Amino acid sequence: MELEHVIGLEVHVELLTKTKAYCSCKNEFGALPNTNCCPVCMGFPGTLPALNREAVSHAIRAGLAFGCKINRISRQDRKNYFYPDLPKGYQITQYDIPLCSGGAVEIQTDGQTRRIGLSRIHIEEDAGKLIHDGAGGTLLDFNRSGVPLIEIVTEPDLRSAEEAGIFLETLRQILIYLGVTDGKMQEGSIRCDVNVSVREQGSRDYGVRCEMKNVNTFRGAQRAIEYEIKRQEALIRSGGEVEPETRRWDDEAGRSFVMRTKENAADYRYFPEANVMPIVVEDKWIEEIRAQISELPREKKQRYTSDWGLCEYEAGLLVSSKPFAEYFEQTVSMGAEPKEASEWCLGALSKLLNAHKLPYDAIPVPPANLAKLIALIHQGVISESAAKKVLGQMFESGEEPEGLIVRMGLGQINEEKVLSQWVSEVIGENSKAVLDYRSGKKSAMGYLMGQVMKKSGGRANPSKASQILREALAQV
Ligand code: ADP
Ligand code: MG
Ligand code: ZN
Repeated sequence: MELEHVIGLEVHVELLTKTKAYCSCKNEFGALPNTNCCPVCMGFPGTLPALNREAVSHAIRAGLAFGCKINRISRQDRKNYFYPDLPKGYQITQYDIPLCSGGAVEIQTDGQTRRIGLSRIHIEEDAGKLIHDGAGGTLLDFNRSGVPLIEIVTEPDLRSAEEAGIFLETLRQILIYLGVTDGKMQEGSIRCDVNVSVREQGSRDYGVRCEMKNVNTFRGAQRAIEYEIKRQEALIRSGGEVEPETRRWDDEAGRSFVMRTKENAADYRYFPEANVMPIVVEDKWIEEIRAQISELPREKKQRYTSDWGLCEYEAGLLVSSKPFAEYFEQTVSMGAEPKEASEWCLGALSKLLNAHKLPYDAIPVPPANLAKLIALIHQGVISESAAKKVLGQMFESGEEPEGLIVRMGLGQINEEKVLSQWVSEVIGENSKAVLDYRSGKKSAMGYLMGQVMKKSGGRANPSKASQILREALAQV
């Protein structure tokens, strides 16, 4: 029996807002525990929530980018459950009428485009954080209580762990481009629940699914899916049946454990949250938000390859980070050829960023200076290899290239008199190589040229020097 794997994801994304979803507490990561809390996000009786407009705007932006229908009226509901990270005893979320419906995320797998359908994007609030202190105690930090989230729910359209990984990376990249989230995985800005089922290949019906909670990394999501596929396949092949379960993924142990039999909507006693109004979105607001959406990674990549002649691979690397792509584009707008700017960004510059452990949004060389350096190579002021040394120094000091070239004594030497002098010295000192060359061994030319470059300390203009050398050799 051929089995097919069916995967659907529920992705929780922390929104990049100044304040929380229903109060004016700061939405920030890493503050001293329990300092960004107030009676509203702590769920004190008698307090009233007021929805953060910025959070709704982020959610709409995401919805528009993925081609969702933006529902002009949507509702906020209470999802009730009892757990220590939830002081109110319920989470405000959206149940039957979400802010966004439908839409899709396009992903690239093996050069193919696949559309992964979305069933919805809704707004909700995050819960607090439990910190198990290792001594058997549990500490509570409510700074995260009430942080605004969107939950992006996919259709069961994914077919492998690998595809799920690509989906999550693509989604994250787009959401960061949109400014919807900072996307910082290590800070829990994106977390997901993973639903997995298997079915006979070609079957129309879906198999029974299990849902895995507590997945904090994309790698973890992939491992959780692989583990669950194996577990379910083994069960089915041995004549057993998959039980609908909610399981907890333990990344360290590399396996999942049953938490409970799958909960259903009734368990949560959803009902409309009467303390807030429905969310009403006017067309004018949607158009304002749409106008703020800048070029997304796929469109950028398209432009780099078709307008600027870059290959898919390098274009993909450049757009992988928005600030990096912007840096590259600014270098081009300052006059550098796209192909050359790309080589410098992906080569020497990336190397320096790695060595200094700097992120793409903290490149200490202004794009104008990189463009200038590239221009100086074209003008014959400096050789490419010397330019790399200069860039290293520009990186350290933030200086402009011209002054550094003079100070570092790296300017290229073009004067014919000087070059000829070196050439005749080299010819005089290397009679064997000269003889080899004269007797037809053309590779001797490379050796002699190397000697000229060495004499010049790498500063001779290579094309001029080699021309002079060739002429001199013909006359020996
Ligand atoms: P719940 O809230 O109970 O988890 P939802 O209807 O919101 O249920 O579905 C959650 C996720 O489960 C969605 O991403 C959906 O694509 C996925 N899903 C639904 N049925 C299956 C299935 N048979 N196999 C795998 N994933 C599924
Ligand atoms: Mg679920
Ligand atoms: Zn608060």
